[in-house]
Amino acid sequence: VVVVSTLVFRILHGSRDLAMALVDMERHLSYIAETLKVIGKAHEVVDLDDARPFQKRGGSIVFEDVTFGYDDRRAVLRGFNFAVTAGEKVGIVGPSGAGKSTLIHLAQRLHDVESGRVLIDGQSARELTQESLRFAIAVVPQEISLFHRSVMENIRFARPEATDEEVHQAALDAQCHFIDDLPDGFDTLVGERGAKLSGGQRQRIGIARAILKNAPIVVLDEATSALDTESELAVQKALNRLTRGRTVLAVAHRLSTLAEFDRIVVMVDGQVVEDGSVQELMEADGAFARMWRLQSRGISVDEALDQAV
Ligand code: ADP
Ligand code: MG
Repeated sequence: VVVVSTLVFRILHGSRDLAMALVDMERHLSYIAETLKVIGKAHEVVDLDDARPFQKRGGSIVFEDVTFGYDDRRAVLRGFNFAVTAGEKVGIVGPSGAGKSTLIHLAQRLHDVESGRVLIDGQSARELTQESLRFAIAVVPQEISLFHRSVMENIRFARPEATDEEVHQAALDAQCHFIDDLPDGFDTLVGERGAKLSGGQRQRIGIARAILKNAPIVVLDEATSALDTESELAVQKALNRLTRGRTVLAVAHRLSTLAEFDRIVVMVDGQVVEDGSVQELMEADGAFARMWRLQSRGISVDEALDQAV
């Protein structure tokens, strides 16, 4: 929706020719109309006239009394307070629709908040230039978007000035050993949207990008799709390498990932309902502990959470 709304904005405000072309394409127009209905009012993040560049410190994230909704009718977060200290690794869990992805998006300033502040290293995200903020945060999205280009170009995308050597090292750190077995190694074209790669391989390319970016903060929306055991182990190893020595805010769907965090935050309906280490949450014997017991009987973390809250 962000991409489409940005596109709509560009079309409306920018190229008239493109807008005219679209008028002929009823299919596109109805899609845009649907999108506008969903977002209600198109918000676009723009730099303030006096926007400042981000000043790198330790890598903390603070939500201060944040209220945010995608439309005026309903707030997803209301008076939301939350903090990740520099170097801390925090995992977010919660049932579908709780607001986990929204939290991750606001930390990257993909939207501006309605009221309150999102502070990155003590600086209000709204007052920073978007470009400088992008350097501070490496993102591993739920779905890695790949271009029909070589593996090399797809990884280098995260830091265009990186040398071949740096790209190779990031791929190695991200457990992308499969690249050696591709027909042309790093020069292999990945196919439309990376169709020639498996889900686990695409994820590791996404992690290689984030490693190459070398930002103090890592924001991660873990893929929900199941991986085979071998891929899961490789992805886990790659994630451990990525998150070492950095601040991490991650939406987690796998127990193997959760075990690595300093702190787990359980979100339900835009609220934090539990917050502590795995051990503390198990002792508290609430929703997280119920989820843990349910999932050990063979259902997924997400299903278990839906039942546990
Ligand atoms: P989670 O990641 O925990 O499943 P989300 O943050 O994606 O939850 O969604 C929180 C709420 O916001 C849900 O009610 C969802 O329907 C709504 N929502 C999420 N993204 C959008 C969007 N782009 N436009 C409108 N509503 C949205
Ligand atoms: Mg989500």
